[in-house]
Amino acid sequence: MSEEYLSRGYLTVEELKKIHPLPSEERLRKKPVAVPECPQEIPCTPCAEICPVNAISMPTPNDLPKVNYEKCIGCSLCVQICPGLAFFMVQYKDDKARVTMPYELLPVPKRGDEVILLNRRGEEIGEGKVVLVIPREKSIGDTNVITVEVPIELAWEARAIKVKEVRE
Ligand code: SF4
Ligand code: SF4
Repeated sequence: MSEEYLSRGYLTVEELKKIHPLPSEERLRKKPVAVPECPQEIPCTPCAEICPVNAISMPTPNDLPKVNYEKCIGCSLCVQICPGLAFFMVQYKDDKARVTMPYELLPVPKRGDEVILLNRRGEEIGEGKVVLVIPREKSIGDTNVITVEVPIELAWEARAIKVKEVRE
């Protein structure tokens, strides 16, 4: 597989699927499931160490993390702790999807805020609504974690958000 993404700086969905097959639609409709977007073999293990149900396998610290989707309970601890901001969770609900992602910018959005959705290239691709915020102070890592409701067709594209207006 081409490793063009390392110089490009982001993965395409097709590249992601080759690194880590995506969960089935049936699984995505059960409950949130974690998917790592971590393509570089570097010695890093916090995600595997924090998982309370051993759903993340990594035979050696240099291996890429692999998630057993049937074991994952959707707790978001891997999203909270990943220093590379490389873990996400996705859940399908009717014609919407919920994407859980790290968020390190200011202002931190609050629940109910309408936000602009960005793809992995930072391009605006639509709008979504924040449905959950775990602020940095309550996160086990150093990042805020937010869950955004997005149109289901953007479930594998929306990977960041932009707050619409800076509040006073
Ligand atoms: S969401 Fe929780 S259970 Fe699922 S892989 Fe991450 S840490 Fe493990
Ligand atoms: S903690 Fe993050 S960067 Fe480190 S191996 Fe896990 S997914 Fe990759």
